Amino acid sequence: MANDFRALLLEKSEDGVSASIKQLQDEQLPEGDVTISISYSTLNYKDGMILKGIGGLVRNYPHIPGIDFVGRVERSEASEYSVGDKVILTGWRVGEARWGGFSEKARVQSGWLVSLPKELTEKRAMAIGTAGLTAMLAILEFQSNGLRPENGPVLVTGANGGVGSVAISLLAGYGYEVHASTGRLDFSDDLKSIGASEIIAREELNAVPERPLLSERWAGVVDTVGGDTLAAVLPQIKSRGVVAACGNAGGIKFSSTVIPFLLRGIKLSGIDSAMCPIGKRKKAWERLSEDLSAAALDGLTTTISLEDLPELAGKILKGMIKGRTIVDVNA
Ligand code: NDP
Repeated sequence: MANDFRALLLEKSEDGVSASIKQLQDEQLPEGDVTISISYSTLNYKDGMILKGIGGLVRNYPHIPGIDFVGRVERSEASEYSVGDKVILTGWRVGEARWGGFSEKARVQSGWLVSLPKELTEKRAMAIGTAGLTAMLAILEFQSNGLRPENGPVLVTGANGGVGSVAISLLAGYGYEVHASTGRLDFSDDLKSIGASEIIAREELNAVPERPLLSERWAGVVDTVGGDTLAAVLPQIKSRGVVAACGNAGGIKFSSTVIPFLLRGIKLSGIDSAMCPIGKRKKAWERLSEDLSAAALDGLTTTISLEDLPELAGKILKGMIKGRTIVDVNA
């Protein structure tokens, strides 16, 4: 039927959360002033948690996960969008508190959407997705704090992941000397090919240092790991350096001292892509569309279908996914 659409539906029972592809009806979509025919979504770390029912992120079942998507407007009650317009959605708790992008259709608020920049194809927009937006927001934080390539090397942790790999590619493009920390040294050549000049083993940065200050090593850090890794880098930040705390792939708790803040004036900036204000979001997408090399982006991506998601959810949580995973929802 014309109003039918396919989606990956999560259902909860006494045995836990299970996922299956279901045929749903237009009328089942939530409230919103724009209905979108989705082309692509992506698999992010948070999607992995949601698919596995971890972290209490989803309150109401049945649920359609997928924290980002790109597609074409199918119906609009909003003056800013017309039928056929190409739009991107990331965050706003879509895919967590509201039905998301692992589906052929979604209905959302127009105020959450960003128009697809003309330089990007729909597929490349999702190669960027939430992870790429987060990487860009971290770099905007560097730049708004005056951290320039001449200030010294910058570090990216969780380098082989989605946020990490887009961050390396962008930073190298802006002329920064990029050091990459990874637990998967066998992918070192790939990290170098996207712009890393030095590879650091994860083990070197996974213990809390005994001393509050160590030699000054990096002018900035895009940290996707958190936990002891964040604790390990803070004493090694150069004077006036900036650490963008993006993720928690290695843990949520960290222990530090105030000394690097007091004696080196370093800054710890939190990055929240989900609720990032729309103006900043549009600026970040504009920069991403202009500054991220299409060839580099294509080299970072793998494309899967809705059916592949349950298996890959476990892999992303174990840090076994490399780069960005695009979901072709119509495949
Ligand atoms: P990925 O799974 O793609 O990447 C995470 C990377 O972290 C892995 O590839 C691995 O890199 C490293 N890693 C995994 N497990 C561990 C561990 N136990 N200890 C140390 N390193 C580990 O996820 P994303 O890139 O999508 O997301 C990264 C983090 O950022 C997640 O915590 C996610 O929740 C967060 N995030 C935050 C956003 C925000 O708005 N603040 C938005 C998007 C993501 P390697 O193999 O190179 O070591």
